[in-house]
Amino acid sequence: MTGASARARRLPNIPATRPEPITTPELAPGATIGILGGGQLGRMLALAASLLGFKCHIYCPDPQSPAFQVSDAYTVAAYDDEAALAAFAEAVDVVTYEFENVPEETARFLESRMTLRPGSHPLAITQDRLVEKNFLSSIGIPLAPFAAVDGPDDIAAAVDVTGLPAILKTRRMGYDGKGQTRIDSLDDTQAAWERIGKAPAVLEGVVDFALECSVIAARSTDGETAAYDIAENKHHNHILKWSHVPASLSQETQDAARALGAKVTEALDYVGVLAVELFVVRDHDGERLIANEIAPRVHNSGHWTQDGCLVSQFEQHIRAVVGWPLGSAERRADVVMENLIGADAEHWPDIIKEPAARLHLYGKAEIRPGRKMGHVNRLK
Ligand code: AMP
Repeated sequence: MTGASARARRLPNIPATRPEPITTPELAPGATIGILGGGQLGRMLALAASLLGFKCHIYCPDPQSPAFQVSDAYTVAAYDDEAALAAFAEAVDVVTYEFENVPEETARFLESRMTLRPGSHPLAITQDRLVEKNFLSSIGIPLAPFAAVDGPDDIAAAVDVTGLPAILKTRRMGYDGKGQTRIDSLDDTQAAWERIGKAPAVLEGVVDFALECSVIAARSTDGETAAYDIAENKHHNHILKWSHVPASLSQETQDAARALGAKVTEALDYVGVLAVELFVVRDHDGERLIANEIAPRVHNSGHWTQDGCLVSQFEQHIRAVVGWPLGSAERRADVVMENLIGADAEHWPDIIKEPAARLHLYGKAEIRPGRKMGHVNRLK
């Protein structure tokens, strides 16, 4: 199914036929950006794109996608529907994605026809925790000790590397604490393997962190990089609940985290915005950063930038994807971002009365426990 206004409209300066090999030029306002994924991140990308005069066409299998409400066009189809993907590719001028589990084959299919930014390569790396860890380690980014686990009998040897306690995580499709389980004793290995669904996994040492933070970094088609101030993140039931900016970290650690984010974008030859989730360990030597994972997309812990910066992470991503120079990532205010999860969203009548709060709701019809319904940025 395709939205009523699905046909792409191009300004005269955008060629209707694409050159081979594809080197998408800088796009002008009026061009259409295709977005794979229709959740709140796609919605906020589409909103940011529309402020710059771009149109968005969302591709998502879920007919209730929140991004459809604010987009020029949409396609409801499966990610392996090649006919729908080919029509989508025809209708847009560049494609990006808003979630990291877009199948790699889908990304490659589109990439063979047009420009996909970021490309399929960052997806392939970040979809597999083991590949991602090997990549981060290869570019010198510190990680918790880890070892591959392909079956329950591998766990004891992996524990020799990680020590106990450790966390067993599926290599693929884990998010918000799903697909992972803690192991405190070698007696628990068989049960732990069953708890994660007997899937190929990685065992990693538990990090005794002082706090969790993240860096949101961007890279343009010209290789220019920018990183936002570091957000200090607090989770509730494995879901991000609060991001505080500035983080309660030394300036040195914040600079190191921003440099780390930029380094990851360079090593991936990335175009767009990504997040690196980090643990901060404090010991007698001071503060140390340990990377947890990369999200190859705009990120919940970057929502504060919508009201704390001149150019939000969403606009920054759009700028990169259309081949524009990056905008200013400078922070203009101290911000606390609160996620509105499940019934939290019912507090909107109080939130709109707060003078320094900005409410962002995602247009989801049904409140469900654990569902991200919106967020509020409170300027301090
Ligand atoms: P993840 O799905 O890898 O992002 O993990 C979700 C959350 O679990 C993280 O935000 C941490 O709070 C916690 N966690 C994950 N891995 C570790 C680890 N190696 N050590 C300590 N806590 C962890």
